Amino acid sequence: MAATHSTGAPVCERYALLGGTTGQQITPRTVTAVLRGTAVTVQEPAWCKGHRGVETLTDLVDLSHASESIAVTVPMYSGGTEQILEAWIAHWPFERARTGGACLPYLALDAGGGCDIVNLGPAAAHALADQLEAYVAQLRAKVGELEVLVADQTARAGDADGEVQS
Ligand SMILES: [Zn+2]
Repeated sequence: MAATHSTGAPVCERYALLGGTTGQQITPRTVTAVLRGTAVTVQEPAWCKGHRGVETLTDLVDLSHASESIAVTVPMYSGGTEQILEAWIAHWPFERARTGGACLPYLALDAGGGCDIVNLGPAAAHALADQLEAYVAQLRAKVGELEVLVADQTARAGDADGEVQS
């Protein structure tokens, strides 16, 4: 049976609720949320990038943590750049109240930059990393092919420039 706080919502045992007083100072390792008019302070994991001010929530399950993200910046045909493969660690420590399941952190992945975010556990995240490593090797090989083609075309263009016209 999960622990509960004053509102009766289950609390993940790994992220204990620290208090429910108003006007409490936010420290670097805690986050304060206003829950139905009551300020509650929750432990902040070291990897969380932090929260903007005090979060106002309807339910404690809506409190989430997110790490800094990583992404690949690619050029676009139309100009400019786009970030793809954005990934970060996310955790909804009180999610158990909604799902009844485990409340574990996961890797959030926005592959195409369109906010179509998938949640990956460690095994799936490793599988993705393996695929990306293979892709990088294939990409480097393709770039090598391109370099040969460009060098060949450049040499032919140079030869054509030197031909004597009759
Ligand atoms: Zn956080």
